[in-house]
Amino acid sequence: MSKSFFLGANWKMYPPPEGALAPDSPYHDTPGAKVVVFPTSLHLLGCHKAGLVCGAQCARPEQSGAFTGDIGMAMLKAENIPYVLCGHSERRTYSEDTGKYHDETDQVIAAQVRTAVALNITPVVCIGETLDQRNAGKTEEVLGRQLETIDPPASAIIAYEPVWAIGTGMTPKPPEVVAAHAFIRSRLRDRAMYILYGGSMNPKNAAELLALDGVDGGLIGGASLKPKEFAVIVEAAKKAASK
Ligand code: PEP
Repeated sequence: MSKSFFLGANWKMYPPPEGALAPDSPYHDTPGAKVVVFPTSLHLLGCHKAGLVCGAQCARPEQSGAFTGDIGMAMLKAENIPYVLCGHSERRTYSEDTGKYHDETDQVIAAQVRTAVALNITPVVCIGETLDQRNAGKTEEVLGRQLETIDPPASAIIAYEPVWAIGTGMTPKPPEVVAAHAFIRSRLRDRAMYILYGGSMNPKNAAELLALDGVDGGLIGGASLKPKEFAVIVEAAKKAASK
């Protein structure tokens, strides 16, 4: 029996797209496509209460504490938020233009994942190589190291997100996506339910990316902020799931 594809809409630091909360928006969970939105911490509860399936973009493992600006996994649990992103590259990486992001290491991400799972929250664990690492032939080495340190359990979802493909309009070639997903799957054995592709997925390339071997869905940033574009991706996911 074919399974639903998973589509994560990462809204980054943007408000929910206009009309997103309406009953007929493309952001609702639907047969064939498990749609989960990741709003800002400010908008999370409003979206959850409006009936969208939601995840947080990040959360700390500590129960509570002096962590100004952050939210904790236990808070997500208390509000019945079922998903959380862990290790998005925008929380791990450096940028020469904007300075440091949040400096989250694989060890920090591993602690987030452990806490999420202990609280029955499904972590969507983001891994991926930079362009320099890919060009140096180190993609598998990097993915392997990230997986080994984070050690995602069976209930985790993995998002393969090449850092250089996020928000750039560039995507790996189809055989490169297939190879990365096969490598990840081999390292996880039967531990991951879903392995998603993320990085510049849009209405033009979604059908091809989602039909690739080993791709169980997508994590979508920019295109998920445009309801019409996201709706096309949802349809592509449903079609891929029906095959
Ligand atoms: C993301 O934010 O995880 C992402 C994949 O962004 P984009 O689709 O804009 O590349």
